[in-house]
Amino acid sequence: MTPLDLAFDRDHIWHPYTSMSKPLPVYPVVAASGTSLQLADGRELVDGMSSWWAAIHGYNHPRLNQAMHAQIEQMSHVMFGGITHPAAVALCRRLVEMTPQGLECVFLADSGSVAVEVAMKMALQYCQARGERRQRFLTLRNGYHGDTFAAMSVCDPQNSMHSLYQGYLPNHLFAAAPGCGFDDEWQESDIADFARLIGEQAHELAAVILEPIVQGAGGMRFYHPRYLQGVRELCDRHNVLLIADEIATGFGRTGKLFACDHAGISPDILCVGKALTGGTMTLSATLTTREVANTISNGEAGCFMHGPTFMGNPLACAVASESLAMLQENRWQRQVSAIEAQLKAALLPLKAQPEVADARVLGAIGVIETRRPVNMAALQRFFVERGVWIRPFGRLIYLMPPYVIEPEALQKLTTAIAAAVACPTLFLS
Ligand SMILES: *Cc1c(COP(=O)(O)O)cnc(C)c1O
Repeated sequence: MTPLDLAFDRDHIWHPYTSMSKPLPVYPVVAASGTSLQLADGRELVDGMSSWWAAIHGYNHPRLNQAMHAQIEQMSHVMFGGITHPAAVALCRRLVEMTPQGLECVFLADSGSVAVEVAMKMALQYCQARGERRQRFLTLRNGYHGDTFAAMSVCDPQNSMHSLYQGYLPNHLFAAAPGCGFDDEWQESDIADFARLIGEQAHELAAVILEPIVQGAGGMRFYHPRYLQGVRELCDRHNVLLIADEIATGFGRTGKLFACDHAGISPDILCVGKALTGGTMTLSATLTTREVANTISNGEAGCFMHGPTFMGNPLACAVASESLAMLQENRWQRQVSAIEAQLKAALLPLKAQPEVADARVLGAIGVIETRRPVNMAALQRFFVERGVWIRPFGRLIYLMPPYVIEPEALQKLTTAIAAAVACPTLFLS
């Protein structure tokens, strides 16, 4: 194997949200297996991130590998225009089966952000087909929906890139973020701002878009299922479509197969991605109802106007289908509840620490919110030295391990976090 050229990486390669002129260190990973990442120098790190929600079954899983090998022998890719193939049909059949009721028509795309673009375009085309000029979206503060332009336009206007792109992004509506936590006592006033906005602006709205129950990259907050039920009722009352972005929450992460299941609701449009392929390939999907699909299709355009080159990539579909088959065997429920119990026992007591503002756990997600922003480079090094891979941001140190993690490995992760929050030098003033 050629030695890893870190100097070349530093001089020539962008990483997510990084500076080319003042790059932070990156760690060379040469292999990954189960819940372990192997560094180039031979050290093994316990993975606490599932590569951003994705690798739910762990890395290098024999069944996922087998599904990809078998598909490569048939064909890695073929265009989806005018052609179909067994891997796409098998995958979409499972998606229609598993997702909340009423979602029957599947659009396959390449990434989460594009699934969100597709969902927003579906809502716009739906309104246009009904002869209504509704072009705005209503969403929640603290939301995150991706990095492409339409997705960005519905991300939290403060902690995202709105100021950078001011004048370029369409001006959507933002309701106050839900304040009632998942386990708090429900307060009807929590949804008042949302209710007011949808009441005043319904005639302009193409759709409401939100992350159900868990607001992810916008702050890792868990809100009350009654809020989501309230949103569904208000959308029905005002005839506005509801888009649920389950790109992070889908496929068991929150303790239910979909976060919408906590509230017993179905959206009109659903986005999934991240864990869809078990963290192996990039793939996403946008599902909608027969009514939305038919209305779009009977409109002026006569079709839905989107079609990526790599749409329905057979290799990605084959491995996604296998990942969903593994989920349908239902081990995830026991695994996620065991992780939840262990995370609660280990992380919630850290609330007593002076550096800790809050600790919260839902399903296989554990979050420590700190009072001060973390010193990213120092904290990353601290974790790597302790044999764990945890990637904090801002004032958030969080875990979302693969569902297959063993109790000892999970303990290594939580112990490292407990050690970190006891160390004031790891935080910026
Ligand atoms: C990650 C994420 C996206 C964007 O997905 P990408 O694959 O990174 O484009 C959109 N919405 C939510 C809720 C996400 O967590």
